[in-house]
Amino acid sequence: MASKSRRPYTIVRGGKLLDIAKRSAQPVDILIKGDTIAEIGRPGLAAPAGATVIDARHRLMHPGLINAHTHGPGNLGKGMGDLWSLELLLTASQWLNSGRTLEDKYLSTMIGAAEMVMKGCTAAYDLAAEFPMPSVDGLSAMARAYEEVGMRAVLAPMVADITFFEAIPGLMDRLSPALQKEVESFRYAPWKAITRQMNKALQRWPFGQVALAVAPTIPHHCSDDFLIACRNLARDYDVGIHSHVAESKVQVIAGYQRYGTTLAAHMDALGLVNERFTVAHGVWLDDDDMKRLGDRGASVAHNPGSNMRLGNGLADMRRMLSSDVNVGIGTDGANCSDNQNMYEAMRLASFASKVQGPDWQRWITTAEVLRAATEGSARALGMAKQIGRLLPGYKADIVFVDLHHINWIPTNDAVNALVHTEDGTGVHSVMIGGRMVVEDRKLLTVDLAQLAAKVEQSRLRRAAITVPAKKLYQRLEKVVGTFCPGLAKAPLHIHRFGASHHAH
Ligand SMILES: [Zn+2]
Repeated sequence: MASKSRRPYTIVRGGKLLDIAKRSAQPVDILIKGDTIAEIGRPGLAAPAGATVIDARHRLMHPGLINAHTHGPGNLGKGMGDLWSLELLLTASQWLNSGRTLEDKYLSTMIGAAEMVMKGCTAAYDLAAEFPMPSVDGLSAMARAYEEVGMRAVLAPMVADITFFEAIPGLMDRLSPALQKEVESFRYAPWKAITRQMNKALQRWPFGQVALAVAPTIPHHCSDDFLIACRNLARDYDVGIHSHVAESKVQVIAGYQRYGTTLAAHMDALGLVNERFTVAHGVWLDDDDMKRLGDRGASVAHNPGSNMRLGNGLADMRRMLSSDVNVGIGTDGANCSDNQNMYEAMRLASFASKVQGPDWQRWITTAEVLRAATEGSARALGMAKQIGRLLPGYKADIVFVDLHHINWIPTNDAVNALVHTEDGTGVHSVMIGGRMVVEDRKLLTVDLAQLAAKVEQSRLRRAAITVPAKKLYQRLEKVVGTFCPGLAKAPLHIHRFGASHHAH
């Protein structure tokens, strides 16, 4: 394949374009002007003189996958935990995230962006984190990482004004007075100060391929005043809102105790549920919640890998789709998934639906999964008219899969192969906005050896300074790890665990 070029026209010749409806891939030529697809036609399509020619023979071309939910900061915590429930992961947040410099924030985002593009993903909704509140400098460092890798992103700083320990009714009372004092270190900045910071970032955001959004991280970790401020920010700047809603059963129980309703009903009453709103996970949404989201044109980012890894259960994607909820697919952060492989996320979305009951007609099809990971995620990112499909007028975000790779021998059904067989190793090249970012399996924009060296230095430095936070986690684990599973055993009208409770 020809290498990257800034020439105005590019013509991709001889590749096979995936057609999801026909479940096949036919040879076409694609003419690209700048960063946008100008024309798709039969092989031999006319191109302006001087156009860069890309030879895509023996390649299947599919729209770049779009990760509807991840956390750039999670990449430095890749593989740190095993037996972590969501509540234990939240308890570990100081251990995982404290002591981070601007350089660490940049590096963590870059690790994820590099992994995503090398595995066929061209855009992500990234719920970033800074503690005790977001900063323009921190967000800019993360945005710079995406821009240097050459990937699109929507960056939404996670914000809260209530700590995890206060948000779960009864939990604080279980901590000893000494531990109660220690968890003061988890306290966020006041919500008005956080809102001012977000305003500042939204007002003068200079990045092109990286947009900003608003993420009240977990509804009951935010006061109502703060949730309303987030709603208004998103409306005033016309950006998305993204929140972890009903990810775990513990959260739903906490929501009932706090609001007397489901979390989604509470957010809806405050006016947050609309077409710019994305629920992360939604494992424990009930039927009314899903209808509410569907009626309002909202989205769910479905992260089956994370949901299994953290023991949150299996989200009901079928009921979401039949309630007209827009569903995108995500990996979630690398500290709870522990990779950023959208092919794996698609495969798990398919498999998760197939263990939920014997009515095979209700299982999620590979075509539905693939549409969710492209068009569905694009809509969640607020980019449904620009990315997620390969058509004239859409951005030239194209993944070239090697049809001579063992994953594709034979190719009986291109859609099934992409969702059930492909694991990222068959990705040959990746184009984003008409520019080659991965070519012949090599990331062109980042030196991985250099990245590894910098990240190792960062890891050693943080391992030393986070020793007290790790020790605090170990003390808290005993309390959180008993109290929260107890809450999760309370009766509820929603059932999402993969099996009955452990009998042993
Ligand atoms: Zn998340």
